[in-house]
Amino acid sequence: MSTCLFCRIAQGEIPSKKAYEDEEVLVFHDINPAAPVHLLMIPKEHVDNLLAVEPRHTALLGKMLALAPRLAREQGATDGFRIVINNGPDGGQEVYHLHMHVLGGPRPWKRL
Ligand code: AMP
Ligand code: ZN
Repeated sequence: MSTCLFCRIAQGEIPSKKAYEDEEVLVFHDINPAAPVHLLMIPKEHVDNLLAVEPRHTALLGKMLALAPRLAREQGATDGFRIVINNGPDGGQEVYHLHMHVLGGPRPWKRL
């Protein structure tokens, strides 16, 4: 069994409120939202963060970025959104499984 929180969510061992799923990607609602819409988009494959990304991940990362506007809109962020990716200790990363925060909804909301 994986000890990584987001691997366990991806494997369904820990429940999440899913917004999107395919073979490679899972999107779920952040448990402690910083904005009216706060999604977390993860690759199902474990990658620590952008510092650990390899050339073979390029297409997957592009796919994730391209998915974000659609999901943000579907979840109610109709007037724009922000993508945040925290990397490493100085990047404020808490969960070491690559994730894109997709933040939107009426402002003002907490800065991340
Ligand atoms: P980061 O600081 O970029 O590593 O962000 C980790 C995010 O994961 C935080 O926004 C947390 O609120 C969120 N989080 C932690 N545990 C869970 C969980 N079980 N389900 C959903 N989101 C979570
Ligand atoms: Zn993981």
